[in-house]
Amino acid sequence: MFNAMAQRLQELMVLFFLAIFSKAVAGLKPYARANITPDTAINNYCLSWRLAVETNNVRGWRTVPVQCLRYIEAYMLGGQYERDVEFITEQILSYVSGIDLADDGLDAWILDVDDTCISNMFYYKGKRYGCDPYDPAGFKAWALMGGCPAIPPVFRLFRNLVETGFKVFLVTGRDQETLGQATVDNLHSQGFIGYERLILRTASYKGQSAVTFKSDIRRQLVEEGYRIWGNVGDQWSDLQGEFLGNRTFKLPNPMYFVP
Ligand SMILES: [Mg+2]
Repeated sequence: MFNAMAQRLQELMVLFFLAIFSKAVAGLKPYARANITPDTAINNYCLSWRLAVETNNVRGWRTVPVQCLRYIEAYMLGGQYERDVEFITEQILSYVSGIDLADDGLDAWILDVDDTCISNMFYYKGKRYGCDPYDPAGFKAWALMGGCPAIPPVFRLFRNLVETGFKVFLVTGRDQETLGQATVDNLHSQGFIGYERLILRTASYKGQSAVTFKSDIRRQLVEEGYRIWGNVGDQWSDLQGEFLGNRTFKLPNPMYFVP
């Protein structure tokens, strides 16, 4: 009698534990992620953020999320940024190699200047890679020094375009009056020689958005008879609006957004 009761109790306990265990297993989500460290979670977030800004799904952002400071630093300095620019440049060169130029001298190409031809990465290092808000006076002082280095893959693209016979127009939102000479000197010191025209923002475009200013410049070029084959910039505002050109190419820039 006693043994039978003990056995029944044992069976009940086994059933009880089985019930608890199955409840616990059922509570697990099908895609539960194991071993996600806080660092990994931040990196995952920052990768999503960077993809969203590069694809123009996040717009009008003023600063890089502060938790992404180390992530953006690693992206910019660790080689991935340069690899991304190199990869895009190879795509551009592949496209260029398939273009038949006419002999009228009107085959044109547009390049943006800041963080397309020449880099402001060292300036932005002091601005925590864009975690600090835009500082117009600070940027102007930096640009006046004329020390922006060329971005090597884009410099190679520039040389290729000039040698192939394209008329290369460098179009920048930099203010002509205050930054014109420093910009010319900076570009020349980095080897950007042989372009057709450097077009800066004149007083008449002051206060206008980059999209309006750059569209108007491209319209003027088209009215002059130029055929814009390609348009390269690090900002979506370089590549939106009118008279965009036959193809546009977006270079990476997770440090700032120009409307
Ligand atoms: Mg730019």
